[in-house]
Amino acid sequence: CGIIAYTGHRPAVPVIIQGLKSLEYRGYDSAGLCFGHSGRLHLFRAAGKLNALEQKLEGGRVLHATSGIGHTRWATHGLPNETNAHPHLDVHYNLALVHNGIIENYQELKSMLQDCGCTFRSQTDTEVLVCLISHALEQHDSILNALAWSMSQVRGSYAFALLSKDHEGRIWAARKASPLILGAGTGENFVASDIPAFLPFTRDVVFLEDDELVEMDAGQWSVYHARTLNPVSKKIQRINWD
Ligand code: GLU
Repeated sequence: CGIIAYTGHRPAVPVIIQGLKSLEYRGYDSAGLCFGHSGRLHLFRAAGKLNALEQKLEGGRVLHATSGIGHTRWATHGLPNETNAHPHLDVHYNLALVHNGIIENYQELKSMLQDCGCTFRSQTDTEVLVCLISHALEQHDSILNALAWSMSQVRGSYAFALLSKDHEGRIWAARKASPLILGAGTGENFVASDIPAFLPFTRDVVFLEDDELVEMDAGQWSVYHARTLNPVSKKIQRINWD
């Protein structure tokens, strides 16, 4: 399983597919990606190997987007089918999320969200997380604040990346007990589960720690403490291997 997110100046879909291929060694049973373009989110998912996803992309006008997120899934909650494949969208189709790990208290959160009128399409713990963030956005004035609140409610392990249809080119990502690394390029930025996913594009990496939250677009990235939202100053490290 693995995640990759890209924002920059290149067509995002080939970058994401290439990144997912380099994460293939982690194993998976479905793959998917999402990008924002012309004010809406475009979602592609397929059970099975990556080439099943690639076939779905053929013929689509997918080269316009310059930011997006991708995922290979190792199913823990819900069957390994297309409905449960990531990315998952919130009920309003405003947010898209990829996630590695397990949300341990997802049942409890799901009941709370259902009581608030939220409906679910998949059996995954991940869909609960994206719906929780969407719910939080109704009470918070920014995605960062909504994320900080959501992360205070969630127990378990996660590395995730999030897109919003209203903020094309911007990506949020965070981790707790699952790997996530930032790749800092020139006019482009990445986060991924492992360095090889973006190594063809940048050798400058930032190792994220638990409870750190990234907000990035093509030209800049910032890291915050996930609960306090205090800025965290991070060191860029250069990778010297291939
Ligand atoms: N728990 C999530 C699911 O079953 C994420 C699995 C993963 O790490 O790929 O969909």
